[in-house]
Amino acid sequence: MTFANNQLRIGVPSKGRLSELATELLLQAGLNFRRQDRSLFARVSSIPADITFLRTDDIPTLCAEGAIDLGITGSDLVEEAGADVIRRMNLGVGRCRLSMCVPIDSAIHSPADLKGKRIATSFPNVTERYLQQHQTSVHLVRLNGSVEIMVSLGIADAIVDLVETGSTLAANNLRILTDIGTYETILIQSPSCRDLQTADRIVRRLEGVVIARDYSLLEYNIPHDKLADAEAVTPGFTSPTVTSLEDAAWYAVRAMVKSKDVISIMEKLECLGAKAILETSINNCRL
Ligand code: AMP
Repeated sequence: MTFANNQLRIGVPSKGRLSELATELLLQAGLNFRRQDRSLFARVSSIPADITFLRTDDIPTLCAEGAIDLGITGSDLVEEAGADVIRRMNLGVGRCRLSMCVPIDSAIHSPADLKGKRIATSFPNVTERYLQQHQTSVHLVRLNGSVEIMVSLGIADAIVDLVETGSTLAANNLRILTDIGTYETILIQSPSCRDLQTADRIVRRLEGVVIARDYSLLEYNIPHDKLADAEAVTPGFTSPTVTSLEDAAWYAVRAMVKSKDVISIMEKLECLGAKAILETSINNCRL
């Protein structure tokens, strides 16, 4: 299979941690496709678009050059490539920091202490910009991976690498000296997008899934005299749905809440006398 000429092209990471996240997100947004074996192309069945599987770090440049119209990649890679693309939306996954790290017992305590030292990184451009801002000149060792072992290999005094949980750093006896930036997985668009209408349609679909992932639906019964207090705790997106129950002393309430707040909201509602408090996850939405 090859690309249809005027059809929108979406670049999706072919492997690595982002590949599965991106595929799951597209399928949940109703962009159904089947990747045959290790094929580089797939046709989306429900929308006029083709998918091509690419290296995550090539996606920013290929999108800027117009080879693809939309791409899923890390905002860290967009910044490193200096790619001229439009950032359409954050996808709510892959959040990480780019951090300058030194050995736990190192005498280096500020970026200025790095003067003349060796720093290993696969983000030389972002690192260089940061060091210029801090008027520090170092010897940069440019690598494509396994940066975290370069201090113990004796190749570098410090590294600049992505940190998510910090467990890789701990395993390599490193500590964060300073953060250079925070990043996440994003959807980018080419400045010369072939089909803006379809691109907007895809963005709306992805927004439906990404927003839904942040929210839960909470349902509960509340005594009449506590309704106003409960509504203040769960104001909902527009406003909560309130229904009368057969038992006139009670109302049933339904409202969207931020998933991360569900437990504390449930506790507050329970204190107000709410009963039968139920949380349901939301798969998709249009708000
Ligand atoms: P952690 O041990 O959870 O701090 O993860 C650090 C390791 O995962 C490093 O090797 C990073 O290069 C890699 N990593 C963490 N977050 C991301 C991300 N959002 N995108 C790509 N690689 C990442």
